[in-house]
Amino acid sequence: MIRDEAWLQQLLDDTWDEHFSDVLQENDVRIVYGRRAKRRLGSISLDPNDRSTSIITMNGIFKDERIPEFVVVATLVHELTHYAHGFNSPLAQAQTHPHAGGVMRREYDERGLLQLYLDQKKWLKLNWPEVVAREFAPRRRTSPGVARIVKVPKPFWYIGS
Ligand SMILES: [Zn+2]
Repeated sequence: MIRDEAWLQQLLDDTWDEHFSDVLQENDVRIVYGRRAKRRLGSISLDPNDRSTSIITMNGIFKDERIPEFVVVATLVHELTHYAHGFNSPLAQAQTHPHAGGVMRREYDERGLLQLYLDQKKWLKLNWPEVVAREFAPRRRTSPGVARIVKVPKPFWYIGS
């Protein structure tokens, strides 16, 4: 399955139906790929040209099928949780800070998705540094086979919203 934006849209529809059916969609919600990023897996924002539309932006690296689908879904759940909590959505704001102590983990847990949360965390810890090294390797290799050390910032996921 080619991971184009139609695929993303379907994933959004399915994830909303399966896991967020209690959350009313009060506005247009779009989902797009952004640039490839080392740190930010996804984000939700209001469309600067139309503040009544929410836009979920997913890391461009997710187009690569070597990234397991559950990692993409877990990222989407994170962004839909922000939507449900009223961050960059028309819904009432649930707390002051979008990542207030343990609020994300609790939300996954309450939706029966704690295992997904844990699996994503584990997969990222084991694999994300290698993904970043691969994606951001210099194009010109002076000596093939010599691994370049690419600095991976820590924590390397979910900086910002
Ligand atoms: Zn977040």
